[in-house]
Amino acid sequence: MMPFLDSILNSPILFVDMDMIRFVILTVSDSCSKGEKDDEAGPELMSLINNHFGNTSKIEHVEILPDEKSQIKDFLKKWSSHNRSDVIFTVGGTGLSPRDVTPEATKSVIEREVPGISLAILCKSLEITDMAMLSRSVTGIRNNTLIINFPGSTKAVGECFGFIKNVIPHAVALLKNEENLVSDFHGRLQGRRSVSPSKVKTNLVAQRSRVSPYPMVEVAHAIDLILKEISATRETENVDIAESLGRVLAENVYAKDPVPPFPASIKDGYAVISSDKEGIRNVREEAAAGDKPVDQPLQPGEVIRISTGAPLPLGADAVVQVEDTDLIKASDDGSIEMEVKIKVAPRPGQDIRPIGSDISVNSVIIEKGALLTAGHIGVLATVGHHTVAVFRKPCVAVVSTGNELQSPHEKLKPGHIRDSNKLTLLNLLKQYGFEASDAGIAKDNPDSVKAVLTFAFDENDVVVTSGGVSMGEHDLIKQVLVEDFDATILFGRVNVKPGKPTTFATCTFNGRRKFVFGLPGNPVSALVTGTLFVLPGLKKMENYENLRPPVISVRLNKKMILDPRPEYIRARLRKCSNDDILEAIPTGNQISSRINSFVGASALVRLPAKNSQGFGEICDEGTVLEAILIQPLSIEYV
Ligand code: AMP
Ligand code: MG
Repeated sequence: MMPFLDSILNSPILFVDMDMIRFVILTVSDSCSKGEKDDEAGPELMSLINNHFGNTSKIEHVEILPDEKSQIKDFLKKWSSHNRSDVIFTVGGTGLSPRDVTPEATKSVIEREVPGISLAILCKSLEITDMAMLSRSVTGIRNNTLIINFPGSTKAVGECFGFIKNVIPHAVALLKNEENLVSDFHGRLQGRRSVSPSKVKTNLVAQRSRVSPYPMVEVAHAIDLILKEISATRETENVDIAESLGRVLAENVYAKDPVPPFPASIKDGYAVISSDKEGIRNVREEAAAGDKPVDQPLQPGEVIRISTGAPLPLGADAVVQVEDTDLIKASDDGSIEMEVKIKVAPRPGQDIRPIGSDISVNSVIIEKGALLTAGHIGVLATVGHHTVAVFRKPCVAVVSTGNELQSPHEKLKPGHIRDSNKLTLLNLLKQYGFEASDAGIAKDNPDSVKAVLTFAFDENDVVVTSGGVSMGEHDLIKQVLVEDFDATILFGRVNVKPGKPTTFATCTFNGRRKFVFGLPGNPVSALVTGTLFVLPGLKKMENYENLRPPVISVRLNKKMILDPRPEYIRARLRKCSNDDILEAIPTGNQISSRINSFVGASALVRLPAKNSQGFGEICDEGTVLEAILIQPLSIEYV
């Protein structure tokens, strides 16, 4: 995860309202987070900020967390990413007690320290009390956000704020300054790890190649190449069953216990001895679900009231449902049944689930390779598995490329557009259960592409890029991959619309295999090719059994002009009562820049190529075609 690259490479900060300082306050306290104590210091700081900065400030967010390093860290990372805030104040957790970890959490996320602010707080606080020696406050910068630790007492917060309030606007202005960011960029990258310049020499535009050197491959062949190249992981991990949804099981799971673990009643009624047949019986007592099994054996002529799921009493061998009985005698107040008539002679074993009848002990309940669903997790819980071995998920990073891109969180600069692909692709992967991290935006120059890819490879198995793979002189992904990472391009052109320049490459980085999906930049192309190519690759890596997207037949409800390439159009799906086949309604203009063609779409319908498979230049209304389900749950019924 390198959102700081976003903010540096994308340089959108200049267009943030320079006068407005956005603050975030995090109170760190076990007792306040549990609600055992009211947070006073956080609200005090909020009113100090409002009083001092007035309408030149905005409190973006206020939160209380326990003294847990990982939670504090995650919070600081979140609020210092994507230019979400200018200053984060933490309040509390800076002392010497074993739970005080705010400075450690802060140190683990900041990229540069600002010791002067902490020193000023210390020196000035020492003038007030020697106890200031016991505060371990840290100040630093992550991305372009200043993070400052304050002690937890309300009094100290007031004092500390007073000491530093005058330097905050200047510090924030410096951090927001684009010139500083740009000139600082290489320094900061060096600070993390040195990335040498790219070997790629950008061609003079007039010298660029006008013919792609990459052969055109068909979609099916491209998927085969991906699945052949990517091997399934053997690495496994144990996860709590509560966290196992959508994971692939790495070993057969056996039942530790039988289900049910005791003979259980299927009905509300009476536990009986079947050889007693029908007739009037004494009602002895009650066996309810959750009760210990009745251990005094049932005697002939007796029955025991029993409820669904309750253990069968000793001596009973059948259950008679309450509907097959009459009440003969009850206590005067109606609280006790004393005699009932069994109207229908029971069969031995009637309405009883014997021990292990649902699941027998030591049987295989789920086989290796299963993709765990709600039902599977229910099975695991029922037989007493708390954890389960699953295959490791691939680590995936998503990168955008382009000088024109800026974060959707920023005010738009002239000639720029918002980076929609990153969020689209991150969420496509999330929708299919793959976690991916944001590895920033690369500028259209080889050094930037190389630096962003280097950091993405550092922590990931797979990098998904968008943009920069076509024939333009600014399209550098393939060149950088080949020249700087010695990558093999498995394919660099696919016979598909949208998505012709889609690229798949592999390289070795720090001794590990890496895979790169270079998707085209047009938003529709990125999402279509992400669905067609990236998902099967990630599924293979995680040992999914079904790797290809689910395909159904649909009936096209509109005549379409065919392209020389097979085309995947976005369509809504409708079930008409008189037709077994779902109807596909294209979602308007299908140009590859128009991402809104995905709004409301449930399927990617595959139009054949012009003049192929018995087609001419058009595909008639009513033609039955293959479609990939992308939103299986949204089908209209008419
Ligand atoms: P490229 O593939 O880099 O030539 O980009 C093709 C088109 O997609 C251009 O109009 C780009 O501005 C646009 N584009 C590239 N990347 C993105 C992105 N991350 N989000 C939105 N549009 C993009
Ligand atoms: Mg581009």
